[in-house]
Amino acid sequence: MRKRVIAGNWKMNKTLSEANDFIEQAAEKAPQSDKSEAVVCAPFPFLPSLVEKTKGTEIKIGAQNMHFEDKGAFTGEVSPVMLKDLGVSHVVLGHSERREHFGETDETVNKKVHAAFTHQLTPIVCVGETLEQREADETKNHVEKQVNKALEGLSDQQVAQTIIAYEPIWAIGTGKTASSEDANEVCSHIRNVVGNITSQEVADQVVIQYGGSVKPGNIDELLSQSDIDGALVGGASVEAESYLQLVEAG
Ligand code: 13P
Repeated sequence: MRKRVIAGNWKMNKTLSEANDFIEQAAEKAPQSDKSEAVVCAPFPFLPSLVEKTKGTEIKIGAQNMHFEDKGAFTGEVSPVMLKDLGVSHVVLGHSERREHFGETDETVNKKVHAAFTHQLTPIVCVGETLEQREADETKNHVEKQVNKALEGLSDQQVAQTIIAYEPIWAIGTGKTASSEDANEVCSHIRNVVGNITSQEVADQVVIQYGGSVKPGNIDELLSQSDIDGALVGGASVEAESYLQLVEAG
């Protein structure tokens, strides 16, 4: 049985005091669950405080990016060593916004996934197609290529521990959600791709999230699908009340 993972991605939102208010509410109210895990992926400056405030609670803290090198002359970057040292457990890698605005490529994502495992961080690897690619019927090929490259060189055990987030770019922040059947079809394809590079047994363990305009009103329907094991949520994860509803749905 795969554990569901409900992860909020705040993106570049909140001040430190807003982040602290959120986490105090969420940490107090987040339900204990054996079948799902709750993660908040926050901007770097808030991470120490959020980790501190969630100690002993049901909520885990993730970063939204990192560099693949351990240390050195990389002005403005944050290393996996730093994240691990803070007590962060997850890291979002290859989000489409980083691919689009900050030059992230399948190659850098692959290096970052390796770096995450070197430092015992759980990677949440984002893949997904543009509207143009969907309309040209290229979704499955594109996502397959992204998944193959992101997972290149990992051991089966590492692949089994990787979280893959399928986020169609046209559904991010637009209010347009992929239909649960369409989302499931791609998630199921991703599982087959993972199976081809490892084994069915490994593929069956991989947590595959859907992301793109997930909200309390549509999460149940998405999670009812066979290959959707959680959600990576932007807008609806920023307020504690709505985040908690999403976590409860998990
Ligand atoms: P929205 O939930 O705001 O569409 O964002 C999805 C996303 O990009 C999560 O990483």
